Amino acid sequence: MAKTNNDEQFKNVISHAKEYGFVFQSSEIYDGLSAVYDYGQLGAELKNNIKTYWWKSMVQMHENIVGIDSAIFMHPKVWKASGHVDGFSDPMIDNKDSNKRYRADQLLEDKITRYEKDGKTDKAAKLQADMDEALKAENLPQLKVLIEEHEIACPVSGTKNWTDVRQFNLMFSTQFGAMAEGAEEVYLRPETAQGIFVNFLNVQKSGRMKIPFGIAQIGKAFRNEVIARQFIMRMREFEQMEMQFFVRPGEEMKWFEYWKEARLKWHTALGTDPVKYKYHDHAKLAHYANAATDIEFEFPFGFKEVEGIHSRTDFDLTQHQEFSGKKMQYFDNDLNAEGKPYGNYIPYVIETSIGLDRMFLLTMIGAFEEQDLSEGEKTDSRIVLHLHPCLAPIKAAILPLTKKDGLPEKAKTIMDNLKLDYNVVYEEKDSIGKRYRRQDAIGTPFCITIDHQTLEDDTVTIRHRDSMEQQRIDIKDLEQLIANKVSWKNLLRQS
Ligand code: ATP
Repeated sequence: MAKTNNDEQFKNVISHAKEYGFVFQSSEIYDGLSAVYDYGQLGAELKNNIKTYWWKSMVQMHENIVGIDSAIFMHPKVWKASGHVDGFSDPMIDNKDSNKRYRADQLLEDKITRYEKDGKTDKAAKLQADMDEALKAENLPQLKVLIEEHEIACPVSGTKNWTDVRQFNLMFSTQFGAMAEGAEEVYLRPETAQGIFVNFLNVQKSGRMKIPFGIAQIGKAFRNEVIARQFIMRMREFEQMEMQFFVRPGEEMKWFEYWKEARLKWHTALGTDPVKYKYHDHAKLAHYANAATDIEFEFPFGFKEVEGIHSRTDFDLTQHQEFSGKKMQYFDNDLNAEGKPYGNYIPYVIETSIGLDRMFLLTMIGAFEEQDLSEGEKTDSRIVLHLHPCLAPIKAAILPLTKKDGLPEKAKTIMDNLKLDYNVVYEEKDSIGKRYRRQDAIGTPFCITIDHQTLEDDTVTIRHRDSMEQQRIDIKDLEQLIANKVSWKNLLRQS
């Protein structure tokens, strides 16, 4: 089989995701809605499994982390306090010939990548430094100067006929109340973190939490991205898995290092090749942060952020204290006991923030393989998703060899038992080879075949997805064999 390049591989993953019911374009029959996607029958399962993995490793595995589920709508003042009303914007620029809109910083980033690819590392470094400086100073005219100086053309029209660079706020707003008139403007949250900050005292008090402790949350977030592309990489409606870890002031760097390491371990425990991951420490920090790093994954279009780990100081809680007039302080008994002169402080925060949809994409890309199975003259191939068994949407397929002789009935009894624990499917159509291939393509770790021998001695053939090895085992041993592979226990132990 010919080797596919990165672009092709990415396209193949996207079409595979659609063909097998993982991801569909939203409102597809109406030609879709830009950068909005729906998860299909298998996608919803995979997504839930990723969530479960994250939630368990955060909440179940840490005695001092609890999870909440806060509302998408929040008081408008929240977004004033957080800085999103005034500062959550991207610099955008339009090409006057194609009428296409771009993020100015991304046009420059793409140019830097191109310089690097062409071996022009000095040029790349210089442009990076110039861009960082302009972004830091919020010098929009300078961003345009850089775009012109480096002769960046619109990928669509091919011209360099650009508008000025302008700021564009990414928050979606809507009206609260039945009547638009006089109703208050509210926002769809652009991150889940603020729902955690505003509940800091509620959770701390009702849960009698002692610092250091964390609050985790999984939920939808909305951003009116200037350009949305690369499938589910950058969406306008997406999901985040965020955890805010509250610590003593002065101890944040220790915890920042702890979470940096812990989060990468969570990723690699899934079996993804570690060379596909790297940290990208931020040289340029947000005004409230004193350290930040991204965990990047090597997507077919380059290393890109999947998760951010940020040391946010006491910025958010201090802002909410100021805007709400409610004290956000924590009384640290232990500090008093240690004889320190004070016990009250606003905690510092380490945030871990991962995009669920990006994690989904990463998982699909990492798992996808077009495998050549040709032997001698005989050409053969299969598409296989090497999903970690804990993440696989379906754990086992139950396949009677034929549709008669009582095999379906026997298969159904096996199915009825296994489905109490797992998602399993039953399939009797097509040849056994075709059925195996279909399960390989959706990442099912086990195929269980029921044949005539099964009726005689209660044994079945179990086929392993990755090795394609087949084993004859007693029906009574099936449950344990599957459990050993799909149990969260093994994964959580490594994460
Ligand atoms: P980017 O630089 O890619 O826009 P960001 O730095 O704005 O990301 P954060 O605000 O730190 O992202 O959000 C945390 C995580 O949420 C990101 O690491 C990413 O996985 C995810 N995320 C952010 N924006 C989107 C989006 N538009 N679509 C899908 N996932 C997103």
